[in-house]
Amino acid sequence: HCTAPLAQKAESAQLPFHPCFNEKAHGRIARIHVPIAPRCNLACGYCERVISPSPDLTGPGSASEVLSPEQGIERTMKFLQQYGDKSIVGIAGPGDPLANPETMTFLERMQEEAPHIATCLCTNGLALPQYAEKLIELRINTLTVTVNGVTPSVIAQMQPRVLDSGTWLTGEEAGHLLISRQMEGLRKVAGHMTLKINMVIAPEINMSEVEAVMQLAVDSKVQVFNPMPLIPRHALRFTRKPTHDEIKHIYSLCPPSLSLFTKCKQCRADAAGIHGKEHSKCPTIV
Ligand code: SF4
Ligand code: SF4
Ligand code: SF4
Repeated sequence: HCTAPLAQKAESAQLPFHPCFNEKAHGRIARIHVPIAPRCNLACGYCERVISPSPDLTGPGSASEVLSPEQGIERTMKFLQQYGDKSIVGIAGPGDPLANPETMTFLERMQEEAPHIATCLCTNGLALPQYAEKLIELRINTLTVTVNGVTPSVIAQMQPRVLDSGTWLTGEEAGHLLISRQMEGLRKVAGHMTLKINMVIAPEINMSEVEAVMQLAVDSKVQVFNPMPLIPRHALRFTRKPTHDEIKHIYSLCPPSLSLFTKCKQCRADAAGIHGKEHSKCPTIV
């Protein structure tokens, strides 16, 4: 017997059965994104936050509307009735979940209403040190931080402006603050929840940082690495996305201690259902 496939199987068995963390759960387990977090505390060069009823919107940062925490709970409860208790309840925007106090209100209400349901957040990590303890207390199961590089000048090309106590920082100063907060935040939550790093890949900007971000993930006890091709738009509309070969190369660099996630198509901030099985172009079906 060759033991390699068994070893891989054991590794994925340790991951939660979550569509964004475990490839075996992708397309099988439902998730709802509750769009209660419209504000953001930084500005990614590739982000066009759009809140509009148009069903043609795609990608993170897009939602047809913003809900109050109470409306979010109502939508979530209906969703869970339809899709069952193994579903994941996530907050992914359309801004940054940790830049909106409504996120904590919603998660507190989830603890009261349905403490057995797995909750999940995607964040840029800037406010993670501030909220780490609260997220542990609220028993968040899975958390994703987008880390686009480790060198401030590289990060600044992806995320050129960062809000710090009411002041916008730019350039390397912004990049330095962001990576420091991400590392500090990951340190605080490690061991309390399953962690993933998403990295938006713009080959001309941050290809040279891929291995360093993977190493940061390993050092921070992050379990999953999800490289996401840049969707060229906004300030980075003329920056190219990676080729198929470049993505393959990134996959080949991933160390064995990190689970690679290869199936992400970058859902909207109000996607709901089982990915790939949504009824229409608009994934908001509840
Ligand atoms: Fe969780 Fe992010 Fe996946 Fe939504 S996209 S379910 S918030 S990991
Ligand atoms: Fe957009 Fe998210 Fe970046 Fe904020 S962190 S600018 S919402 S992609
Ligand atoms: Fe999660 Fe990405 Fe799959 Fe959407 S496409 S369910 S964000 S892994």
